[in-house]
Amino acid sequence: MTKSVDDLARGDQGSNDQDSVHLEEQAFGDNPLEVRDTDHYTQEYVGGFVDKWDDLIDWKARYESEGTFFIDQLRARGVKTVLDAATGTGFHSVRLLEEGFETVSADGSPQMLAKAFSNGLEYGGHILRVVNADWRWLNRDVHGEYDAIICLGNSFTHLFSERDRRKTLAEFYAMLKHDGVLIIDQRNYDSILDTGFSSKHTYYYAGEDVSAEPDHIDDGLARFKYTFPDKSEFFLNMYPLRKDYVRRLMREVGFQRIDTYGDFQETYGDTEPDFFIHVAEKN
Ligand code: SAM
Repeated sequence: MTKSVDDLARGDQGSNDQDSVHLEEQAFGDNPLEVRDTDHYTQEYVGGFVDKWDDLIDWKARYESEGTFFIDQLRARGVKTVLDAATGTGFHSVRLLEEGFETVSADGSPQMLAKAFSNGLEYGGHILRVVNADWRWLNRDVHGEYDAIICLGNSFTHLFSERDRRKTLAEFYAMLKHDGVLIIDQRNYDSILDTGFSSKHTYYYAGEDVSAEPDHIDDGLARFKYTFPDKSEFFLNMYPLRKDYVRRLMREVGFQRIDTYGDFQETYGDTEPDFFIHVAEKN
């Protein structure tokens, strides 16, 4: 039996245990703080971490907190075709398919795509059109032009050099139709960098069950630790993007209008949002 995202919102979370992809463990070597490399993401989204990622992001809670924010942004611009560039385990791809958008689901991690494909079948019987592609060579591996590209779930943070960030934005720009829109979200690293490591904040997902906590922060690295109810721990090494820096890069690559939202609201500033969402129009 298949479940839709609506079923999840009603509380039918179900179990995906039989779909688990069991591959190698995360590998950070002897000095994890020296791992500051764009290519390393494929060794971070592996094995048990991919299996647990759905627990971490909790589709039901996410469905409720996002509401129709992204759908509204896309509909307001008459979008019909969407490239989900950072599919992960497929949450947004499934959501977009349910809402009737023609969607292609890309990711550089085959393990993530395998999980996304099985989630598509489970949540609504959708056959995801998955493409294994690294953003830096997107135009080589994904064909066609899209009305919108989404890169969500704090994914852009995996790029460790400015060259890779510019290359990725240029690839996204080139794959958009003339009036296309790019939506990228990011964690609010400004607040983490500015308030310092000593005031580190624990971010809870999935109720209080799964926590994400900064393990090390400096100007070039945000290493987060994810702890699950069974006490297992996983890490991600990310680049701490400042909000205005990302906006500047988008402008410099050619996007004409960039609106930045905080935690899905148009006004932010009174209370610090945990996430920013950049909506960038090509024309
Ligand atoms: N969008 C999903 C979500 O919100 O649940 C997944 C987010 S996950 C934090 C980041 C995803 O970006 C991973 O699936 C990872 O494989 C992918 N990724 C990171 N760097 C990439 C790159 N250079 N090219 C393609 N995919 C990449």
